[in-house]
Amino acid sequence: MDFTDRYVLITGASRGIGKAAAIAFAQKGAKVGINFRNNEEAAKQTLAALPGEGHRLFKEDISKKEGPKALINDFLKSYGRLDVLVNNAGIFLRHGIDEIDFDDWTDAFEEIFKTNLFAAANLSYWAAQAMMKSGGGRIVNVSSRGAFRGEPNAPAYGASKAALNAMSQSLAKKLAPHKIYVGVVAPGFTETDMGTQALTPEEEERLLSESPFRRMAKPEEVAHAILFLASEGAEYSSGAIIDVNGASYLRS
Ligand code: NAP
Repeated sequence: MDFTDRYVLITGASRGIGKAAAIAFAQKGAKVGINFRNNEEAAKQTLAALPGEGHRLFKEDISKKEGPKALINDFLKSYGRLDVLVNNAGIFLRHGIDEIDFDDWTDAFEEIFKTNLFAAANLSYWAAQAMMKSGGGRIVNVSSRGAFRGEPNAPAYGASKAALNAMSQSLAKKLAPHKIYVGVVAPGFTETDMGTQALTPEEEERLLSESPFRRMAKPEEVAHAILFLASEGAEYSSGAIIDVNGASYLRS
């Protein structure tokens, strides 16, 4: 896979899966835009970890209504074109229906959907406008195993990722004639802040036991699938959802 002279924007790249993807794209020659929300120190560390030159930080809260347009505009101002958008940023909040009151329930749905679905939808909109003008591009969306098998303690999270899958497949059909290819990576439990902080020790033990690997995914393993979907030669995989879950949940 070669991304020399490709301009790649990754949301939520200060940490976790986004950071691993930023490093992987840079190792293959891409110029990488690292978006983050407020963790400037971590974002600077990601920037410092990237091989090559020309990478940049883009601080923007993409859950805000104007965030996605501002982010794509800033990226285009810096680089002149956008070849790959990775909608990776996401949040996970625990909100079990038997644990919280109604206000917290509705707040959880609103907050999670704003980041996990609406931001990806709005970024895809503005990215697609730019890619249609420049003759094509790739969009890779980071979903979750939870879209398929349920998230008992975070139903809005599971629902947001199922919606992200459906949106991605709709866009894959609509955008292929414009040479814009849309793919999805659906990780299972992954070694990041989100993966390690959201669960009780009992839940962590149970989840680990579900995979024959008996371990979490490494962020680099998820990044590998992201790069594949964004690469030359993967065009006909547009619309695909690649599971990276250590055979813990197998869909037919
Ligand atoms: P993470 O370690 O919690 O990192 C989240 C990243 O998203 C950070 O860079 C954060 O920026 C950024 N972010 C969050 N909200 C944002 C916003 N409104 N605007 C801009 N950036 C924002 O998460 P991760 O585990 O790497 O997860 C990455 C993706 O994989 C998510 O979509 C997640 O749902 C999905 N996923 C993760 C797992 C898992 O077990 N880890 C499993 C399945 C799917 P700051 O550093 O500035 O806060």
